[in-house]
Amino acid sequence: MRIGSGWDLHRLSPGRALVLGGVTIPSPFGEEAHSDGDVLVHAIIDALFGAICDGDIGSHYPDSDPRYQDISSITLLKDALTHLGEHTISNIDCTIVLDEPKLRPYIDTIRTHLAEALQIDPDQLSIKAKTSERTAPAVITAQAVLLLD
Ligand code: MG
Repeated sequence: MRIGSGWDLHRLSPGRALVLGGVTIPSPFGEEAHSDGDVLVHAIIDALFGAICDGDIGSHYPDSDPRYQDISSITLLKDALTHLGEHTISNIDCTIVLDEPKLRPYIDTIRTHLAEALQIDPDQLSIKAKTSERTAPAVITAQAVLLLD
């Protein structure tokens, strides 16, 4: 077994889509980014590369490369999965920190959608949501811990 951890942060700005796990959440603010800014998927990709000691999201998909402009992070995730070799995902546990909007109504949809992209069962994917207690209302962060068999 191998373990990996990932963490990501994006600034929020008006007029950008708020994309989490490939699902667009109704919100007046979204992630600023070169890609779609899917902070949850970015944390999972870093956990995945961390578990196999193979660099990080920036070394595989540099934001200086125009190929990744506005790309869906789910596309990057599917490419990252091809690096796993003989390993399979045992489970992933994630936490998103965001003040507004409240994510609870969307968590099940995100889990279902993201588990399908990861080719795992939703029972292998935990997604938790917290607020920053309004200490960081202009950013969204996500962390992920992943175990490979
Ligand atoms: Mg990111």
